[in-house]
Amino acid sequence: MRTIGLIGGMSWKSTIDYYRYINQESNAILGGLHSAPVLLHSFDFGPIADMQHADDWSGLDVAILGAAKGLEAAGAEIMLICTNTMHRCAPVLAGFELVHIVDSLTDAIVDADIDHVGLLGTTFTMGDDDYRGRLEAAGINVSVPDADGQEEMDDMIYGRLTRGVVDLDDRETLRGIIASLVDDGVDGVILGCTELPLLVAAGDVDITLFDSTRIHAHAAVAAAMRTD
Ligand code: GLU
Repeated sequence: MRTIGLIGGMSWKSTIDYYRYINQESNAILGGLHSAPVLLHSFDFGPIADMQHADDWSGLDVAILGAAKGLEAAGAEIMLICTNTMHRCAPVLAGFELVHIVDSLTDAIVDADIDHVGLLGTTFTMGDDDYRGRLEAAGINVSVPDADGQEEMDDMIYGRLTRGVVDLDDRETLRGIIASLVDDGVDGVILGCTELPLLVAAGDVDITLFDSTRIHAHAAVAAAMRTD
């Protein structure tokens, strides 16, 4: 199994889930005492979020590229950016074997035979043309919440979830936003922020959910097991 480089800490709450899923799945495949060879670059999320909100994407590109170079020098063979939002910086990792979160989601959505999804995440993700474009290129239509719903998503993600606060009112708000996407005709919903699965899970709502954290971690293990 090849060594997985995690570019994480955005936030650390969901990086914990990446680490757990990758090790659980690797052990389920390899058995015995096996676990996954993993290297982690965990950012201090405070300055990262400040740069996002200051629209300093070139500074963020430099940070992500620096993390990937450090992980590669330490022995990482494949790279993951453990956040949907920061995939805006994915183009700077063109020289690395990157497991792209949207490609992983696209495969899962196509496998489920669904062609219209709702996308929930930060306003950066919901407004990211490359993110949507990758889904649309696979024939998947994408709906997002209205302006109020988008503002509520940012409020719960940056105000609470990435600070480690899971709030029951947020769970109800999220259920309401998902219900309005269902009214718009979606057949599935992407939890396109790696902390959103802390609030809702399959069974909590009456629609297929695509958990970006779990799906991305699963794709990482599959990539790490490939030797060609
Ligand atoms: N983890 C979140 C995501 O998947 C948000 C944190 C960030 O801004 O990177 O988009």
